[in-house]
This record gives sequence, structure tokens and C-alpha cells, in this order.
Amino acid sequence: MKAIRIHKTGGPEVLTCEDAPEPQPGAGEAVVKVEAAGVNFIDIYFRTGLYKAALPFTPGMEASGTVTAVGPGVTEVQAGDRVAYAMNPGAYAAYALAPVWKLVKLPAGVDAKQGAAIMLQGMTAHYLAYSTFPLKPGHTALVHAGAGGVGLLLTQIARNIGATVITTVGSDAKADLSREAGASDVIVYAKQDFEKDVKQLTGGKGVDVVYDSVGATTFDKSLNCLKPRGYMVLFGQSSGPVPPLDPALLAGKGSLFLTRPSLANYAANRDELAWRAGDLFQWVASGKLKLRIDRTFPLADAAKAHEALESRKTSGKVLLIP
Ligand code: NDP
Repeated sequence: MKAIRIHKTGGPEVLTCEDAPEPQPGAGEAVVKVEAAGVNFIDIYFRTGLYKAALPFTPGMEASGTVTAVGPGVTEVQAGDRVAYAMNPGAYAAYALAPVWKLVKLPAGVDAKQGAAIMLQGMTAHYLAYSTFPLKPGHTALVHAGAGGVGLLLTQIARNIGATVITTVGSDAKADLSREAGASDVIVYAKQDFEKDVKQLTGGKGVDVVYDSVGATTFDKSLNCLKPRGYMVLFGQSSGPVPPLDPALLAGKGSLFLTRPSLANYAANRDELAWRAGDLFQWVASGKLKLRIDRTFPLADAAKAHEALESRKTSGKVLLIP
């Protein structure tokens, strides 16, 4: 089968398309014929070496497709089932191995592309809004990269809860998309000082929570956008990692809370995963949540997909099609 392999960490060029043996399922596992693999920023962190993986490896943490084989004792799924999963390595391939507890059956009416577009970014948006800082009507949230994959979903979910959402985006075209997703105010942070604008928009009070996935270029100012006792949710670093900080800084800025969550800890068991994925599929079916698939690439063009995501050209989901 064809698979993308990384033999050394580096730029997009280290993603090479090779022949690899088809995986064989062990106990508790299933083989999925991948129809669409999600491209996520976490794949870039593994490719560059910011996140560590033993070399060589096949990247990709999210896929959807059809089960072709199951390991001994597996009863939850069978060959022919249409499934999707997230947070399991090896998705950039024609066939991928996944633990059965991470598989979610695709409801009728949800195709493979939608399945791969919803799991990782959708469950992330879900846990951020419902678990890390449970949003309530009346809260105001600042969401950075509001037109990105997670950003568009988080904005819609937060709005559906009844929160007010202010977003930042990199361009005017992205601002339109973010507004369509439900942002009440959109700040083009490439041109405007978002700290100043957020203070103005909130009458000097600040926001209840900042969902910051941009990291290096936004973190310091994000802290200044919070109300006293507000929540700083740093969940990514698309612009680079945030340097170490002195915890006393949080006291000085108003007894702030700081957390650095990961989906792995918020979809850590079957019940939690089924809750989040179940909500997402229901919202998509009812039209409460719109998925935006920005572009698709053939599997062999994984490097082009990474280049597009990394250079801020995309707004929504990027998929690889084996
Ligand atoms: P996005 O589609 O949001 O793409 C990243 C966006 O970040 C870009 O489109 C860009 O938007 C913005 N950005 C700002 N500065 C830079 C920069 N210097 N280089 C590149 N991009 C920049 O990606 P995803 O939806 O896949 O992921 C969003 C973030 O969420 C990532 O940081 C990812 O790591 C994080 N994440 C965290 C998870 C967790 O559980 N902790 C799980 C899933 C995702 P703009 O042009 O508008 O500035």
C-alpha cells in the first residue's frame, strides 16, 4: 500500500510517499481503509520535531473510511462498517490501524470527507467550550485564528451556547468567514492591535476566556485581554512555542488561570469520546454546525497540504485522499 513516511524531521519535503506493508490488526484493533485523512497542525509539530516520535513514522492523527479487518475478540465493529477516528498515529496511508475504542461509526448521511473533517478539530472545539472553560450564555470569549479549522467550529459552538465571540484572523477574507461562523467582532491582528481592540469592545472589562492556539505571537497580549480571574486556555502554538513564564505574572494580571490542555486528556475514554463525537454528528445533521472543507489533496501531495496549512492559506479542513 501507499503511505507517507518521515525518516527525518524537517520541512514539508521530508514527507515522502512510499510502499509500505498493509497493517495487521491485533487484539482490540481494526484496520481501516482510509478514504480521507485529516491534516492537522499537530502533524506539523511531529514533522518538524517539536513533538517527538520514533523515526521513521507515518504521520496523521485522524481518518475516516471502512473497516476491512478486525483483531481477535473484537465485536464492536466489523468489516464493512464506515468509521472515523482521531488522535491515533498513522493516518496518512491507504490503510491504517486503530484501537477499536477510538472508532466512531459514521451516521447515515455523513460521508467520509465529513467524517475526517469533524473528529479532531470538532472534538477539540467541543472540549474547549464544554469542559476546559465551560461556556455559559453571557460569557465573552476571544478566539484566535477564528477562521482556522478549530476556530470556525469553536466559534459556532460557543455561539450556539449563547456566548459572545470575538475572533482574530490573518486577512479580510478570513474575517468574512469568521463573521459567518458567528463572531460578533473580528479583529485582523495582522493590521490591528488586538489587545487594544478587545479592551475597547468590552468597555475596558476584558473577556472571560481566551482560547489561544497561536502561541508565541499572541500569548502575552492575550493575558492582557482577560478579566480578573479570567481563563487563559493555551491549546496550541501555530506561530511557535510560548517561552517559560513566572507564575507570579498571573497574580499581577488579576489572579488569572492558565491551562495547556490536550485532546488526548479530554477524549481519554470511550464515554467521553462518544459524548463529544455524538454531539458533533447530531449538530452537523441538524445544521447547527457547518463543516468547511477548505481543500483536498491526493495522499502523495501531503507536502503541498502541509505547505498550505503552515503558510496560513487555509480556512477550515484540509484532507488527504489516498
Ligand atoms: P488552523 O486551521 O487553525 O491553522 C492555523 C492557523 O493559525 C492559521 O491558519 C493562521 O490563521 C494561524 N496562525 C497565526 N500565526 C501563524 C503562523 N506564524 N504560522 C502558521 N499559522 C499561524 O489549524 P488547526 O485547526 O489544525 O489547529 C489550530 C490550532 O489548534 C493549532 O495550534 C493546533 O496545534 C491546535 N490544536 C490543539 C489541540 C489540543 O488538544 N491542544 C487539538 C487540535 C488542534 P490566521 O491567518 O487567521 O492567523
